[in-house]
Amino acid sequence: MQKFNSKVPKGPLTEKWSSFKDSGKLVNPPNKRKLDIIIIGTGLAGASAAASLAELGFNVKVFCYQDSPRRAHSIAAQGGINAAKNYPNDGDSIYRLFYDTIKGGDYRARESNVYRLAEVSNTIIDQCVAQGVPFAREYSGLLENRSFGGAQVSRTFYARGQTGQQLLLGAYGSLCRQIKLGNVKLYHRHEMADVVIIDNKARGVIVRNLVTGELERYFGHAVVLATGGYGNVFYLSTNAMGCNTSAIWKVYKKGAYFANPCYTQIHPTCIPVHGDYQSKLTLMSESLRNDGRIWVPADIEDAKKLRAKTLKAVDIPEEKRDYFLERRYPTYGNLVPRDVASRASKERCDAGFGVNETGLAVFLDFSEAIERLGKNVIEERYGNLFQMYHKIVDEDPYKNPMMIYPAVHYTMGGLWVDYELMTNIQGLYALGECNFSDHGANRLGASALMQGLADGYFVLPYTIQNYLADEIKVPRMSTDLPEFVEAENNVRAQIVKLMSIKGSRTVDYFHKLLGTILWEYVGMARNEKGLEKAIELIKKLREEFWVDVMIPGEINAMNVELEKAWRLADFLELGELLARDALHRNESCGGHFREEYQTEEGEALRNDDDFRYVAAWEYTGDNKEPKLNKEELIFENIELKQRVYK
Ligand SMILES: Cc1cc2nc3c(=O)[nH]c(=O)nc-3n(C[C@H](O)[C@H](O)[C@H](O)COP(=O)(O)OP(=O)(O)OC[C@H]3O[C@@H](n4cnc5c(N)ncnc54)[C@H](O)[C@@H]3O)c2cc1C
Repeated sequence: MQKFNSKVPKGPLTEKWSSFKDSGKLVNPPNKRKLDIIIIGTGLAGASAAASLAELGFNVKVFCYQDSPRRAHSIAAQGGINAAKNYPNDGDSIYRLFYDTIKGGDYRARESNVYRLAEVSNTIIDQCVAQGVPFAREYSGLLENRSFGGAQVSRTFYARGQTGQQLLLGAYGSLCRQIKLGNVKLYHRHEMADVVIIDNKARGVIVRNLVTGELERYFGHAVVLATGGYGNVFYLSTNAMGCNTSAIWKVYKKGAYFANPCYTQIHPTCIPVHGDYQSKLTLMSESLRNDGRIWVPADIEDAKKLRAKTLKAVDIPEEKRDYFLERRYPTYGNLVPRDVASRASKERCDAGFGVNETGLAVFLDFSEAIERLGKNVIEERYGNLFQMYHKIVDEDPYKNPMMIYPAVHYTMGGLWVDYELMTNIQGLYALGECNFSDHGANRLGASALMQGLADGYFVLPYTIQNYLADEIKVPRMSTDLPEFVEAENNVRAQIVKLMSIKGSRTVDYFHKLLGTILWEYVGMARNEKGLEKAIELIKKLREEFWVDVMIPGEINAMNVELEKAWRLADFLELGELLARDALHRNESCGGHFREEYQTEEGEALRNDDDFRYVAAWEYTGDNKEPKLNKEELIFENIELKQRVYK
């Protein structure tokens, strides 16, 4: 296995982060003012990093493609954020959060990073409370917690079903303070189109102004990507429509490793697909599984009647219901991790027990909780989610159970980073969902917000100084340098190429086909033959795209179709890498379920001897096979076991 320098500090697990903080290099205040940092992204990871670095005294330029940082996809996060405060006194600890996260990720994450995440989790809550984030409180005034999948304790802090929004408002407030002070310059409606590398170090970006279409150049002593996940490669997902892979894909093509692209999270509780013309799926938060019970009819005839609409859920008596998660996993019940719950729902639907017209739905039922707690308590806890469901489906979930089905939700894969969150390109960092760092093959609920804010508020502000301390003598560079000119010319050439195709099919036509291929062959269940087929189909689709896509409008103007085509061109390449990664990984782990590798009970069967590594893919040229590099995962503190939630 290849030797990777993941820069994990030596010493016991519990002391690694403090020893890094004690010994890492720092930049003194006057020198901080001489250093420019570019941050791409204003979601929780990017906004928290930008605010923190500016507060420290660095000059920050921050970019997002939306009209406001507040529209970053993070705003959609509903359920909550984890931390090991142990307020409920139910036995939580930093070690337990670490353990649950490693186990939840099916033993495919780096121990040191995950331990640090658990360690800083409590500080995040303090920081956010200080910002005024209105977390739910108990009668006593203490912050309230609820449970999420894969944990036996309640460690999830929340603000109704709008936790992401409230946290983002907190980070945005801090960011605005720094904008006002002149330490941060914000560029909204600006999309990063490429990174500029000079003498093997990231030194800037080429950005497209989405309002004028102009290309612009920006210099930074370091470049930080916080550009979110790439779940939209599947076309239908719970992600915001704009989420894309382009920033991380462009840097992959400049030499940054792309790690574990096949680890995709399919979330069990989403509103089922209801038609061919749908372009977005809606998540019903995992928090609902605290009180909602998942079931299908025990009798297949009842399922048929439900599908034919001759029977209603409420008319099926208790003894004829199959609470299949409680039956299969009595210890965790409805709170098994997402990958496990999704597969179990799929299994029931594939066996003919699906409850809606398409046969691809199961019930999420609150009748027992409403009876036990009263409607007002359920409304207090999940009111906005119930309202959202009611509006979309036109059925009252207080009266009839919700119908749910798994959908693409989160991508654990992303840019490979070391302990300091630096990619293998010097001075190029990746934070939040766009890196591969902490969730292994399956992310536990409420851990993405924790990771994004940990990276931005508490990790990068230390680690980036370790690099920048050696850059203080580097003067600001001119953006007229040949590297900037060349990068800009390349971007322009790609845009001109796209615009000159003038084909007959819309961007969405191709995107939808890509999504169909990926969902069919690289979705919840994968096998060798299907993956080989997917690779061929994607290659063909890519060729068709490049001769037949139609992009109306102008280059030098606002052009939403051009933006979409630009992003889809990268998705069409990423889709192939995703399938390739899934094909090479001859095991099942977390969100990656290979049908050939399962236990007799249909659970994921890992192969630790051969696949206990991070697959870090290296670009070798267009239409060439990428090179696979392997970072061995060393477990010194946790014993590898088959994941059991029974
Ligand atoms: C519906 C839903 C609910 C969720 N609920 C929860 C939850 O309750 N708890 C939890 O822990 N996790 C949850 N998640 C996951 C979590 O929301 C995300 O993983 C997290 O918010 C990602 O944050 P981020 O800062 O990494 O990226 P994002 O919030 O996606 O931000 C990305 C930023 O990058 C910018 N950007 C991207 N590309 C470019 C480019 N080329 N140029 C310029 N700017 C660019 C965007 O403009 C944006 O500002 C949920 C996810 C979904 C889909």
